[in-house]
Amino acid sequence: MNNPDVLLSVQALSAHYGNVLALSPLNLEVQRGQIVTVIGANGAGKSTLLNAIMGALPQRGHSRGAVLFQGQDVQGWDIERRVGRGMSLVPERRELFASMSVRDNLLLGGFRLYRAGVKGWRDTLTEVYALFPRLKERAEQAAGTLSGGERQMLAVGRALMARPALLMLDEPSLGLAPRVVREIFQTIAHLRSTGVSILLVEQNARAALHVADRGYVLETGELILEGAATDLADNPRVIESYLGLGRT
Ligand code: ATP
Repeated sequence: MNNPDVLLSVQALSAHYGNVLALSPLNLEVQRGQIVTVIGANGAGKSTLLNAIMGALPQRGHSRGAVLFQGQDVQGWDIERRVGRGMSLVPERRELFASMSVRDNLLLGGFRLYRAGVKGWRDTLTEVYALFPRLKERAEQAAGTLSGGERQMLAVGRALMARPALLMLDEPSLGLAPRVVREIFQTIAHLRSTGVSILLVEQNARAALHVADRGYVLETGELILEGAATDLADNPRVIESYLGLGRT
């Protein structure tokens, strides 16, 4: 029977690129209202995991297993349909339209709602601007001229324009200065309070475990640990591999 508290349930999900196994069959769950993080080093399979959940693996990539979203198996659905159902992914490369304005990038994020005749997309734009006042200030500026932090805000803002129930973030801290990372993570925590559930994959284990409710540790395509984020932050194995001195 479906548990209504479970927003996302990934069951025996595996992924291959051609014949090469990138993710071993794994199980993962996101409950409504939670921030769940998956921490792992370079090449552990974090992006592969999010792309497999979103149905966005690149060519030669394919996955097996079940992805249950709000109780429905969405494996086999295309990305558009998953977005329509309330899933949203902010990819690591952020994939903005560089020559288009900040505002137009945001409007594209809400295009599906607009096309479907859903009222209130203007309100969503106002909400996104309230969340990221800097985007409002720079509304007419070309996205390609934004700073790294502002680009990340725009990528998150664009995903929010589709009003997702689940926001998946692929290394939002990548390449950002510590102060900007703090800002982004504060926003992530704030989003949870507005009812968005979040699946966050990160190399920055310290920041991710600080903000998350639960966490998983991914090593070479396998989930080797899971638990409450506070417990993981105290786990000697996590401390040694991911939280050692010198890491931020
Ligand atoms: P990073 O933090 O460096 O982005 P990651 O944890 O997100 O790493 P993935 O990008 O998911 O890791 O990569 C997992 C494994 O799959 C790596 O061994 C990588 O070389 C391989 N891989 C990723 N994308 C492809 C692809 N398009 N074709 C073939 N192999 C790939």
